[in-house]
Amino acid sequence: MIITIDGPASAGKGTLASYLAERYRLAYFDTGMVYRAVGLEMLLKGLNTADAEAAATIAAELTFPRMMELSKHPEFRGPQGGKNASIVSAYPQVRSLLLKMQQDFALHPVFKDGSLANGAIYDGRDTGTVVCPNADIKFFVTASAEVRAERRYKEFVAKGIKIDYQEVLQDIKARDERDSTRSAAPLRPAPDAIMFDTSDLSIQEVKQKACEIIDSQLQRQKLA
Ligand code: C5P
Repeated sequence: MIITIDGPASAGKGTLASYLAERYRLAYFDTGMVYRAVGLEMLLKGLNTADAEAAATIAAELTFPRMMELSKHPEFRGPQGGKNASIVSAYPQVRSLLLKMQQDFALHPVFKDGSLANGAIYDGRDTGTVVCPNADIKFFVTASAEVRAERRYKEFVAKGIKIDYQEVLQDIKARDERDSTRSAAPLRPAPDAIMFDTSDLSIQEVKQKACEIIDSQLQRQKLA
């Protein structure tokens, strides 16, 4: 089974994906990592993220193990890491160079210890539209920019990162704008995606609704 969860930053995709991954024994691919890895690699090599060609060269050389290694760097999940990822992800060449790595993951979904999973779950912006257009179930999770900024602000504070709420809100809005207006794979729900707005729904309610949908899909597959 392949499940995709798309939506804007801090909508609750990661929380839902981790929960479903554990519950249904699915291998989880947080696809924002590929763009974060390219952005960080550029930073470490002293390259400017405004340079689309340099970003493409880095994307062409990126491997899954190198991405995992970069993910341990403190800047990877920091505010600058998110901003750089958003910039490099707007380059069409970077996106197409990183597509195969993301798609290959579903061909042989395994956990970190190498054991076989029941399938794969992806989270990102274009996983239901571009990466896995034939996924069994597609979710699109969203929430207002203010609600998402508040969540991200609290996450940063919990990690000891000093930041101003207004700065987080501005960054969220700028990323939304970049992600939804870019020419390659702009952020939008797949036509067959199931929509969740987490401004009004608690994460508990979202988890429950998602499980009901997955359980009935599994039931249908059993009967088919
Ligand atoms: O989800 P995360 O915040 O880690 O993603 C970092 C950035 O990578 C996003 O702001 C977005 O611009 C980009 N991204 C993307 N397509 C994906 C996943 C992430 O363009 N499938």
